[in-house]
Amino acid sequence: MSNGSSRLAFFKKNISKRVFRTRNGCDCVACAFIYEHGVIVRNISHAEYLADQEENRDVKYFTTKEARDEFVRTQQKTPESSGASQS
Ligand SMILES: [Zn+2]
Repeated sequence: MSNGSSRLAFFKKNISKRVFRTRNGCDCVACAFIYEHGVIVRNISHAEYLADQEENRDVKYFTTKEARDEFVRTQQKTPESSGASQS
């Protein structure tokens, strides 16, 4: 299920804009800073790099911090909480 090309299009569309990613499992200062403040897609090769990060590392990028936080929230949801209260 490779969606790499459409993700590359996403990053190309956001060149010179800021994107926010989910946590990459690293808590160092640099990674924590990027998590908080996002990263600006500089050019096409940077867009390709970020698309590659999504494919090869367990991260996903969003155009807003809010969308990122919302995604993280739904990922953390426990399975039984979604289909509750069937009466
Ligand atoms: Zn790090």
